[in-house]
Amino acid sequence: QAHLDRIAAVDGDVHAYLHVSGSALEEAAAIDARRASGEKLGELAGVPVAIKDVLCTVGMPSTAGSKILEGWIPPYDATPVARMKAAGLVALGKTNMDEFAMGSSTEHSAYGPTRNPWDFGRIPGGSGGGSAAAVAAFEAPLALGSDTGGSIRQPAAVTGSVGVKPTYGGVSRYGAIALASSLDQVGPVSRSVLDAALLHDVIGGHDPRDSTSLTDQWPSFAEAARAGARADSLKGLRVGVVKELDSPGFQAGVSQRFHEALELLTANGAEIVEVSAPHFEYAVAAYYVILPAEASSNLAKFDSVRFGMRAAVQGTVEDVMAATREAGFGPEVKRRIILGTYALSAGYYDAYYGSAQKVRTLIQRDFSAAFEQADVLVSPSAPTTAFEFGAKLADPLAMYLNDVTTIPANLAGVPGMSLPIGLAPEDGLPVGFQIMAPAREDARLYGVGATLE
Ligand code: GLN
Repeated sequence: QAHLDRIAAVDGDVHAYLHVSGSALEEAAAIDARRASGEKLGELAGVPVAIKDVLCTVGMPSTAGSKILEGWIPPYDATPVARMKAAGLVALGKTNMDEFAMGSSTEHSAYGPTRNPWDFGRIPGGSGGGSAAAVAAFEAPLALGSDTGGSIRQPAAVTGSVGVKPTYGGVSRYGAIALASSLDQVGPVSRSVLDAALLHDVIGGHDPRDSTSLTDQWPSFAEAARAGARADSLKGLRVGVVKELDSPGFQAGVSQRFHEALELLTANGAEIVEVSAPHFEYAVAAYYVILPAEASSNLAKFDSVRFGMRAAVQGTVEDVMAATREAGFGPEVKRRIILGTYALSAGYYDAYYGSAQKVRTLIQRDFSAAFEQADVLVSPSAPTTAFEFGAKLADPLAMYLNDVTTIPANLAGVPGMSLPIGLAPEDGLPVGFQIMAPAREDARLYGVGATLE
């Protein structure tokens, strides 16, 4: 009730939610009844969660921020949602996002942007700006997001929240409306490292419905976070600062807080080592070939027949499909479909998609080499604090370059966390610290992250 009251009070301004559940109180009461009857429930049972609208939810619309899916109510829950419900968490509603998770500001949502709770004139990050804003504005204690190139970590950074992109394959993608299938991962957004770990424990693990789901037995991330919080020293931990992601071009206050966090790690006994990842400078370029290529293929299913809207035109199947896609997709989605189909077309495939995949391999090798020298890698989570609405909207390249710090982890499939490390002195806005670990070592993020809180 407290969260529903808070949503009623502030969401008119924040616009974190696209849909608020009508049955959250009933579901919470059912959890209370189960607890009262003596059933042993998990630690998060009864805790409400906001869900990014990219995840399919039974009984609640799932639009992925697009007009083309307006009003579509999925017949099944995405696996992370099903697992969350099975653990007794209660869905509060669906959160706003850039259309089909394409963007870094939520300005590409077909339903209007979300405002950053720290400053209503600024973006809350993207694509999962709604989930991060809901958590930061106390409209939800926890949220689910998806991260293809930073859409959990960057919104967390610019709203002063914690966000985690798990190892690729660590959390099921079943029922997550696909952007780029080789990059997408679902993960938690929260106000503390332990909260993120608790939610990750609930949603993660093998799912036979996702063919890329890892079959690993995962350790308890909550235990890792608690151990990190208890530890009195980081002695023996090698923290690698990625030279290419510690750019003099970043906002001064972002760099300042980042270097202060490094000092804190050193003071706690960690050893700071500088590592070089020479191919990271090509990551954004490779990503913006691979992502549109996969997205153009994934979005082919919005054909006016299988899902969502259908334009009211007379004509052939092709006429109806074209009119629906013309009306239903926004400009950023169209831009990426065109880029993607071009990159995949005969004669250009090797030059663009093939080259980008080779760069991806080189980036993966950079990570492997860096992880020989360091246990975790760190960087600022984003080059700047939250920018003003409109600042990058007319310049797609400027928007894309904002992802420079987060994209490498997606290309390599390694896990990454953003956690808040104070406010930039020049604008008083939150700064995020990114920690990355080798694939399957998500527990390290929670252990190290907890020491920085
Ligand atoms: N900003 C990136 C993009 O526009 C990240 C998207 C994401 O992680 N979903 O592609």
